[in-house]
Amino acid sequence: MSSPVGASATEIRRLVASGEASCEEVARAHLDHVAATEPRVDALLAPLGERALERARALDDKLAGGTAPPPLAGVPLVVKDVLHIEGLPTTCGSRILEGYRPPYTATAVARLENAGAIVVGKANMDEFAMGSSTENSAFKPTRNPWDPARVPGGSSGGSAAAVAARMAPVALGSDTGGSIRQPAALCGVVGLKPTYGRVSRYGLVAFASSLDQVGPLARSVDDVALVANALCGHDPRDSTSAAEPAPDFSGALKAGPEGLRIGVPESFLAEGVETETLARFREALATLEGAGLRVVDVELPHLPHAIATYYLVATAEASSNLARYDGVRYGLRTPESGDLREMYGQTRDLGFGPEVKRRIVLGTFALSSGYYDAYYLRAQKVRTLIRRDFEKAFEACDVVATPTTPTPAFRLGEKTDDPLQMYLEDIFTVPANLAGIPGLSLPCGLVGGLPVGLQLLGRPFDEASLLRCGAAYQRLTDHHERTPPLT
Ligand code: GLN
Repeated sequence: MSSPVGASATEIRRLVASGEASCEEVARAHLDHVAATEPRVDALLAPLGERALERARALDDKLAGGTAPPPLAGVPLVVKDVLHIEGLPTTCGSRILEGYRPPYTATAVARLENAGAIVVGKANMDEFAMGSSTENSAFKPTRNPWDPARVPGGSSGGSAAAVAARMAPVALGSDTGGSIRQPAALCGVVGLKPTYGRVSRYGLVAFASSLDQVGPLARSVDDVALVANALCGHDPRDSTSAAEPAPDFSGALKAGPEGLRIGVPESFLAEGVETETLARFREALATLEGAGLRVVDVELPHLPHAIATYYLVATAEASSNLARYDGVRYGLRTPESGDLREMYGQTRDLGFGPEVKRRIVLGTFALSSGYYDAYYLRAQKVRTLIRRDFEKAFEACDVVATPTTPTPAFRLGEKTDDPLQMYLEDIFTVPANLAGIPGLSLPCGLVGGLPVGLQLLGRPFDEASLLRCGAAYQRLTDHHERTPPLT
């Protein structure tokens, strides 16, 4: 058997099901590759070698005993460290969770493990998923496998870099304002943010609960569909999880994209997309037209307000969600302090990094009694207008297309002193979270040797149309097959 490293999830499952490779061999090969590439990329916070090999052997035993191979049999998986795995540390990229070990596993992880996936590591991320570069991790920055002087994007930068570097064919991330799609674009992989409610948030550490979604990253749309099949569906343990039954996404890909209409918000694209990035986007549209899709212009008039709206709603919800880290219930507690109030204050000062503190202050301000109407309430109203913009656009088209980001990956340190510049990175991704709709990013070529992404947005619960377009695009192009330099 040649090395399974670099094989797709679909191919690994085939190797395991046919007996050409054991789950243990597949896991071992990937763990060796992690050890070889990790010093250059720093994608992981914790490799899980022992646990992975144990689980792989257990699955091999079951398969030898005649159990039918499950849909992700032996597929190596990297999990963003915002999702719980029972008994293992969840850091969320923060010092404040130091020593915390969750007593349960996130539904998203459990579903993939039940489908046969083998978790090989937990991925680095921006602290509490707040960021667009993974530089806000309390532990280390992750590097872009295409150029180690550049960021992988964020906040799921570890997940995206791991997939790009072939540490695993598949990873889980979370997306509150772009954190799956933006790093996927900057690392040259595919990322899906499902519809709000499509994937359970049980066991996902909350950032902004009305925006957060869990989703997969992989190198092909086929693999994303395969993982989405196992991932999506109702969970009684998450009250916001949708009752909507999930379709067979892999089956849906067979339909082809003919007849789908793609809407392009031309006037919004005028807002400062770097020239070459825009050129790759236009080429992608031309390819899709060649595949039988019709391109139409759509208006999304409130999108210029999306960033301001997002940074009010997301910080308001974060300030409330993060109140629970008080030194009593989870993780870190400051060693010496006079009274309870002082202990709360000192623990939070010690445990949270500067970006998390900035968001807590912003969010608390937006919710405070004198300013609630002017900021939080008004942001909620604009959020509704943005959702209606999409409803209207989806009368004229089936899928909305934009570039995923305005530029390719920037340099480490380039935006760390300028939070507003960092926030502008999210201009094309936050609207989907505000509207609750699904979004897919896929590699659409290189700019100066660095990948950029095509973003496709769909109607609520219509991930299938995005995947159909994406799969058709990948049949006609080879951008997703390019490998970054790994040594
Ligand atoms: N970059 C955005 C932020 O910093 C989005 C983060 C995310 O989706 N988790 O909030």
